[in-house]
Amino acid sequence: MATCRKCGAGKRRWPRSCPACQAGSSRADVAVEGADVAVSLGVLGWIGRGISAAFRAVLRALG
Ligand SMILES: [Zn+2]
Repeated sequence: MATCRKCGAGKRRWPRSCPACQAGSSRADVAVEGADVAVSLGVLGWIGRGISAAFRAVLRALG
């Protein structure tokens, strides 16, 4: 769930404009939101790596 940078209303998806004030369809906003998505994807990948490492450690302890 993205948030409008102009009025703070919730948006369903980042490429779409805000339903309340129609902001967010400009290229600058899309670039900023894209950077946010890239950062959150990186964090998710980092968390996934940590989970799989912990899972492998548990398997090693059991086996
Ligand atoms: Zn808005």
